[in-house]
Amino acid sequence: MDVNANALLIRPTPDMDEAFDNKLHVTQKRRAEFAAMRDLPSVTADGQRVELMVNAGLREDAQALDMVGADGIGLFRTEFQFLVSATLPQREKQQRLYKDVLDAAGDRPVIFRTVDIGGDKALPYMQREDDEHEDNPAMGWRALRLALDRDALMKAQARALLEAAAGKILHVMFPMVSEPWEYEEARALVEHQREWLLARKKKLPIAVRYGAMLEVPALAEVLDILLPRVDFLSIGTNDLTQFLFAADRAHPKLAERYDWLSIAILRFLDRVVRTCQAHAVPVGVCGEMGGRTLEAMALIGLGIRRLSITPASVGPVKAMIRAIDAGEVQALMRDLLDSGERDIRARLTQWASERHIELG
Ligand code: PEP
Ligand code: MG
Repeated sequence: MDVNANALLIRPTPDMDEAFDNKLHVTQKRRAEFAAMRDLPSVTADGQRVELMVNAGLREDAQALDMVGADGIGLFRTEFQFLVSATLPQREKQQRLYKDVLDAAGDRPVIFRTVDIGGDKALPYMQREDDEHEDNPAMGWRALRLALDRDALMKAQARALLEAAAGKILHVMFPMVSEPWEYEEARALVEHQREWLLARKKKLPIAVRYGAMLEVPALAEVLDILLPRVDFLSIGTNDLTQFLFAADRAHPKLAERYDWLSIAILRFLDRVVRTCQAHAVPVGVCGEMGGRTLEAMALIGLGIRRLSITPASVGPVKAMIRAIDAGEVQALMRDLLDSGERDIRARLTQWASERHIELG
């Protein structure tokens, strides 16, 4: 069975057998190379540091940090705990999970994303009224929209996070921010809980850093208003690109139709990165796009210096980072975007192959 190709070979011929063995051998060799790179810095050939963090959602995921040698958790999807539970997880239970994850991460940062539930991530124990049926759940009453309307859930989560991070730096990030006021309200809610705990002489985080996810294209038009208020921005390319192309991210017929390396997406991201740089706000990518080596190379070419990806992608992406000259990739991307190149994927692949940069 070839799980990479999603293929089950029935009665393979000797040729097929041999080809399969070769492939397996190459994969194992590459894996060993990635493992050997675990403790090497994630720095480009011209000395540019690219932070490599992992996406996580379960207590066990924190162990991946050491296994792959990541710089931290760039996206902790807190809704996982809610989705796998038969009843609403109590605040103490949430707090235990957050503390365990922070302890496992040690000095490395963990960016907790407040719950992204609702829409297609419906909770069985959360009552919905009949008029809440949604035709387009991905664009519906989910994430921050739901959290601000049902703020008891968000308040409990904020307290759990603040108490879990006592004596440490707490990073909180809000999903699906569409307008700056939503971010402001969410931040005020967390700050209010902080004051509440302070008044009760509870031990608090030494600092709280607040971030917003850019997943809704409209937010990109008001970054000049939002950025002075945030500590960091994280681009969620899974949702962002489905909204940019109006193409459902889970639809099998559309999965391959629009390319992450399309000029529309790259120009959009380029503008966002430049606006963040102008405001001196750190910006990263935490969608799946950053976990693919060629896409990650393009993102570095746009000026992205923080990627949060699945643990399995850290090895291949780090190998690519250590092989490229970021200045050269940046010049190449500028060229491709300005000239309106049609097949950016082909051009980048060719460029990498001419320099013997492995993208596997
Ligand atoms: C995203 O949308 O890119 C993202 C990281 O969030 P999620 O995949 O959890 O929606
Ligand atoms: Mg998302």
